[in-house]
Amino acid sequence: MEKIADGHAADPFRVLIGTMLSAQTKDAVTLAASTRLFEVAPTPKVLAGLTARRIERLIYPVSFYRHKAKHVKTTSRLLLSRHAGAVPTTMAELLELPGVGRKTANLVLILAHRSLSNICVDTHVHRISNRLGWVRTKTPDQTEQALYEVVPRRWWPDINRFLVTWGQNVCKPVYPVCRRCAIEDACPRIGVTRVGK
Ligand code: SF4
Repeated sequence: MEKIADGHAADPFRVLIGTMLSAQTKDAVTLAASTRLFEVAPTPKVLAGLTARRIERLIYPVSFYRHKAKHVKTTSRLLLSRHAGAVPTTMAELLELPGVGRKTANLVLILAHRSLSNICVDTHVHRISNRLGWVRTKTPDQTEQALYEVVPRRWWPDINRFLVTWGQNVCKPVYPVCRRCAIEDACPRIGVTRVGK
């Protein structure tokens, strides 16, 4: 997810929309879809003026493309009507946009607005933080709040980038490859019942 948004880091609008498209979708698919979309609609004004059907065609095959098409269109309209076309800089304002949860909002604040005070928790960060015993939590939102208490502040903006890459390649969801893990000896492997080769 961060890789997708990072490619558009100079433009908060592209970070926001790219992150919204990325949910439950492979990075390569999201990148291709967002590239097609931004070629046609590089600004909130143009995107808000497209039909949902046109947006669907541009972003297909990202998952939930019908919902996402509606959300990015409505979000673009709200950016224009409430924020003069700019992407908001606060968590509360971002969460008022349709299809934007804390994960997306945190990533936008970190990548687009260069916040040093947020942690973006997705499924990888949630899983690995619990396996390592940093936190004992049931949901990503709980994990986010718990991590603020235990992780040194200087790492907050970078945790997502590090743990997502680690989670995709080593500490995988079902079969973590513990034998290839650099911290195998130090990890309590909480909740790990099966490991990969
Ligand atoms: S040792 Fe296994 S469970 Fe622990 S962080 Fe490494 S891959 Fe994940």
